[in-house]
Amino acid sequence: MALQEKNYWLTTTDFPKPQSRPLPDRVDVAVIGAGFTGLSAARALAKRRAKVAVLESETIGWGASSRNGGMVLTGMKLGVNQLISKYGRELTRRMYAASIETIDCVERIVGEEAIDCDFSRCGHLEVACKQKHFDDYARQAEVIAREFNHQLRVLQRGELSSEIGSTIYYGGMVDEVSAGLNPARYVAGLGRAATKAGAEIFEHTRVEGLQRESRQGEAGWKIVTSRGELWAREVFVATSGYTGNATPALQKKIIPIGSFIITTQTLPEALAHELSPRNRMIYDSKNYLYYYRLTPDRRMLFGGRAAFFPENDRTIRRSAEILRRGMIEVYPQLRDAKIEYVWGGTLDFAFDMMPHAGQIDGVYYALGYAGHGVAMATYQGQKMAQLIAGDKPENPFLGIPFPGAPLGLYNGKPWFLPFAGMWYKILDRVS
Ligand SMILES: Cc1cc2nc3c(=O)[nH]c(=O)nc-3n(C[C@H](O)[C@H](O)[C@H](O)COP(=O)(O)OP(=O)(O)OC[C@H]3O[C@@H](n4cnc5c(N)ncnc54)[C@H](O)[C@@H]3O)c2cc1C
Repeated sequence: MALQEKNYWLTTTDFPKPQSRPLPDRVDVAVIGAGFTGLSAARALAKRRAKVAVLESETIGWGASSRNGGMVLTGMKLGVNQLISKYGRELTRRMYAASIETIDCVERIVGEEAIDCDFSRCGHLEVACKQKHFDDYARQAEVIAREFNHQLRVLQRGELSSEIGSTIYYGGMVDEVSAGLNPARYVAGLGRAATKAGAEIFEHTRVEGLQRESRQGEAGWKIVTSRGELWAREVFVATSGYTGNATPALQKKIIPIGSFIITTQTLPEALAHELSPRNRMIYDSKNYLYYYRLTPDRRMLFGGRAAFFPENDRTIRRSAEILRRGMIEVYPQLRDAKIEYVWGGTLDFAFDMMPHAGQIDGVYYALGYAGHGVAMATYQGQKMAQLIAGDKPENPFLGIPFPGAPLGLYNGKPWFLPFAGMWYKILDRVS
């Protein structure tokens, strides 16, 4: 099969197609964005009998939620020592516990809704590109065991062959708690579950602006969309890396960064087993990292930040070649494997690389998952739904300081990405 510029996951599932209906006049909660965050929240709110409208400018799961690697990961982008020095032991402990709970949260929803998405607790493997990265694994594992009572297994270089059919790494670290799934099937299933619970999803409905407006003495929001207006008592913004100028305060705090993926043809069983004998979710220790895994039908799925800019025809085509070269460096065995699909998507990075949730200018939000969104987005959707419904859920990311750009030098258009890309490449050489 010739290379297709298309998301492979989309070939594995059908998405629900909500009927196009007029917008309701008023709802309790308007959720902007139909990805993991928005749909997880919509389902939870509708189960509590709230009248919920999910407003999506494209279609269900169109954003990062259908395009990702399907790695359901523990931990956060920042290492534990960085977290402890920034937030202190107690808050970091709560954050780490939450990161483990995020996996349970995905598993629970998949089970409750019987979502057929190949969810499996296959564990993840982090591999060290340098000796000093490996030395740091042992230190991290020790802190995580001592402070958070969570066991990671550190593997010396000589032990790695039981985990990965590559000889380029200096060692690895395994977390058995992480999982893998098919993200397109998962987000399609969340869409069905939200609808079954009573939420209404409006596709091709771009939110263009929000204005405070009271109705019959009740404070709320007039929401202007590409298909007309509606009124909502509360608004939950779940737009992640696609956050735009309808919510300018959030747009200024989120850097949209491109990430790209290729998949090979289906591999012979023996070769697939040799590449990843335990079917782990794998990523390396660089800033400009590669992440990879086998798909349930035995393709190698290989991703990375091949271009920093978000996806377009040019960045996607270039990424296919860059990622293929990267894949062959890791796995020379794949030199002759055909690349059948390439696609890209946009990640949401906050300036401090942390997930953030809370209220800004009166609207609720959760975003900033920095490549760890499959589990965290699902979890934040649940937690924010509880908060909007009036509970006080445990959510250690709620209201943590949410920095903007230094000196305010950012209006939502990431002019500095080429420089950031170069900076991270240099860092990968020297650190
Ligand atoms: C290539 C790639 C690989 C990744 N791999 C992994 C991985 O393996 N593991 C992991 O944990 N995370 C991964 N991630 C990150 C993860 O996919 C995201 O963090 C997660 O999907 C975010 O979900 P979300 O619902 O918040 O946002 P999204 O799924 O991006 O949804 C946001 C939605 O908002 C809509 N929207 C935006 N503006 C408006 C508007 N004004 N009006 C209406 N709708 C609007 C968009 O159309 C979009 O559908 C990856 C991301 C990418 C791009």
